[in-house]
Amino acid sequence: MNASYLELQGIRKTFGGSTVLDNVDLSIQEGEFVTLLGPSGCGKSTLLRCIAGLTEPDGGRMLLGRKDIAGLPPRSREVGMVFQSYALFPNLTVYGNIEYGLKMRGADKAERHARCEELLALVDLQEKRDAYPARLSGGQQQRVALARSLAVRPKVLLLDEPLSALDAKIRKSLRTEIREIQRKLNMTTIFVTHDQEEALTMSDRICIMNNGHIVQEGTPETLYSRPRTEFVARFMGSYN
Ligand code: ADP
Ligand code: MG
Repeated sequence: MNASYLELQGIRKTFGGSTVLDNVDLSIQEGEFVTLLGPSGCGKSTLLRCIAGLTEPDGGRMLLGRKDIAGLPPRSREVGMVFQSYALFPNLTVYGNIEYGLKMRGADKAERHARCEELLALVDLQEKRDAYPARLSGGQQQRVALARSLAVRPKVLLLDEPLSALDAKIRKSLRTEIREIQRKLNMTTIFVTHDQEEALTMSDRICIMNNGHIVQEGTPETLYSRPRTEFVARFMGSYN
């Protein structure tokens, strides 16, 4: 078996005495699409924030492509992140939002232009390049957020409930679109959701989280047909 591309070992995090991540281990292969599925408050966002460097774990190891990323500033980690609420810059156009990270990293204008064109095509928003976020639908805003996070060619993409604020129809079409883009780029991805249908339809592998633990992981088929605990069964909708 290949060495894993993203390796988390014994990640721990407490907030004010309460344990939010309790020795989380997670190994992800390059190009894999892994979903963290679990109830609100189980630690999903905290785990992503630790990987992205938005918060530091109290203990544990984090390796990305063999590089130890613990303690590095977010910009040096080569991690892209998309949040539930779109978090676009309201005063920048679609183009400006996608270009932002490239500008921050000192890419020259020609390079920024070429990359932005590529990304606008990837998320199919060429005709909206000059629009401001407020004029876009929720689904379009999330496609911009996705393009923006991919602009700097991250090694891993973290998607924190990117579909949860969208209405049902858009949510379904974006599921497919995200997966197509992820496959096209062979992008190693952690997708967070509390929606089991999303997890079942999108994932190579699902990790069920509860109370700061990964309680079971496996393919969608395995988790659905062979849940090890009642909690997993309930969460996977294996029985009604
Ligand atoms: P999830 O994304 O699974 O809903 P979170 O990772 O956001 O869960 O939160 C897990 C727990 O950690 C919750 O009980 C939450 O209140 C707590 N928590 C998260 N961030 C902070 C913080 N910055 N300060 C204090 N408590 C926090
Ligand atoms: Mg969350």
